[in-house]
Amino acid sequence: MTDAAELRRRTQELLAAHPPATTARLDLLRARFDAGLAWVHYPEGLGGLGAPRSLQAVVDAGLEAAGAPDNDPRRIGIGLGMAAPTILQYGTEEQRRRFLRPLWTGEEVWCQLFSEPGAGSDLAALGTRAVRVDGDGWVVDGQKVWTSSAHAARWAILIARTDPDVPKHRGITYFVCDMTDPGVEVRPLRQITGEAEFNEVFLTGVRIPDSHRLGEVGDGWRVAQTTLNNERVAIGGMRLPREGGMIGPVARTWRERPELRTHDLHQRLLGLWVEAEVARLAGERLRQQLVAGQPGPEGAGMKLGFARLNQQISGLEVELLGAEGLLYDDWTMRRPELVDFTGREAGYRYLRSKGNSIEGGTSEVLLNIVAERVLGLPAEPRTDKDVAWKDLAR
Ligand SMILES: Cc1cc2nc3c(=O)[nH]c(=O)nc-3n(C[C@H](O)[C@H](O)[C@H](O)COP(=O)(O)OP(=O)(O)OC[C@H]3O[C@@H](n4cnc5c(N)ncnc54)[C@H](O)[C@@H]3O)c2cc1C
Repeated sequence: MTDAAELRRRTQELLAAHPPATTARLDLLRARFDAGLAWVHYPEGLGGLGAPRSLQAVVDAGLEAAGAPDNDPRRIGIGLGMAAPTILQYGTEEQRRRFLRPLWTGEEVWCQLFSEPGAGSDLAALGTRAVRVDGDGWVVDGQKVWTSSAHAARWAILIARTDPDVPKHRGITYFVCDMTDPGVEVRPLRQITGEAEFNEVFLTGVRIPDSHRLGEVGDGWRVAQTTLNNERVAIGGMRLPREGGMIGPVARTWRERPELRTHDLHQRLLGLWVEAEVARLAGERLRQQLVAGQPGPEGAGMKLGFARLNQQISGLEVELLGAEGLLYDDWTMRRPELVDFTGREAGYRYLRSKGNSIEGGTSEVLLNIVAERVLGLPAEPRTDKDVAWKDLAR
């Protein structure tokens, strides 16, 4: 078993062979992956050493202290947080070797083609069709929507209907889609912030080789659960330093601008500060539990709390700033590749956090998941469970 001392030794070895001051960023990231220091809990040869996940912090601290660049995890969050664990669990050896290295180094950005105009919360109702064609592949036709980072992505994780004659959860297959295929059209969707960080994606006669299928034909719903459970942890359970999230800017304003303080705002700020700290520590605990394997429905609870807190904290920040907080008036349609709350205006944070209770599963749907799969309460009635997808009312 690789322990902390061994990881420290390997980190120093990497730094000696590739000094950050004189090594190009990408060369260092590739060398780090090849040394098994990218995500230490991944298998050897795939960027890891099969070490406990909790020991990643040892490597990260050593590299940070030496001034080594990281892989800009926020820019490639969908790849790291969702595509990678799914490829690791369901991919063939060839798929793992092809996709994981450039995914981790950030050379290839990933997006998620799941939601459709008629299938969001009820994702299993999706209608994008994948039809097997002669030879060794599939042809995909349909429309996806709300696809974050599709404009920057090289690859997508995609779920599509391969069998309309069976109930909706059973006729879905999971693919990797090449976003440079001529049948893929990406159009911006403007958001409440004025920016277009997400898109609608039209798929017309997109050819996908069978070697880009993840998991068995018809088993895509099960494969997608790995992605969705990881998504909730990726959104709600990010590793943060104290005051690293939304609470940071509002606490800073409170300290620096005493003239804005009132007794009521003080009480609310203290309450939210404590809740933010509890959420941060709960996220840490959740990540430690992941040492034991894939995340389960508990991630839904984290994501629920994260959305509620972000909305409450950003609301408090706007109130604290008074009229100044309302000064968000830049409606330039930018196309950011990532969501970054830091260094932005309070008004931007307030508007963008509205999406937190929708993306990665709405809060209402996550409450259902917690009720049924964590607390064991009776399930919602599901009358369409045994009806073929083609016979469902749409
Ligand atoms: C910022 C952002 C980024 C996103 N990025 C992506 C992405 O990259 N890829 C992707 O595939 N998708 C993405 N999404 C889409 C997101 O997953 C869906 O919007 C979400 O699942 C809700 O689906 P919907 O929009 O179709 O709403 P609907 O499912 O139509 O829901 C409408 C309302 O009905 C409620 N509702 C629905 N069903 C139930 C139920 N059973 N019980 C109680 N209430 C219910 C919902 O909570 C909601 O309030 C993104 C969304 C946002 C906001």
